Amino acid sequence: MYDTLDNASYLSEAMNEKIGMIAIREVDMARMFVDCRDYPSEMNCTIAISADTKKELLEAAVQHATSVHGHQDSPELRRELAKMIKTQ
Ligand SMILES: [Zn+2]
Repeated sequence: MYDTLDNASYLSEAMNEKIGMIAIREVDMARMFVDCRDYPSEMNCTIAISADTKKELLEAAVQHATSVHGHQDSPELRRELAKMIKTQ
């Protein structure tokens, strides 16, 4: 019983430490996102993708555009998707 409580408080301390680190990172790096709702498509997609770096976000957006919207991965598509990136 006490062991469980100790573990729980240790875990929450570890979590707080982690959250603190994330908060510090967010000062340096703005969260970026692409919101499919801004670009009406035949399927009325409501997906929003977000990441801390443009590279990660673009990769995820390309994956989404090709697998869900049936686009071909190309430099043109990547340019279009890069234009959709917004910062919060
Ligand atoms: Zn979509």
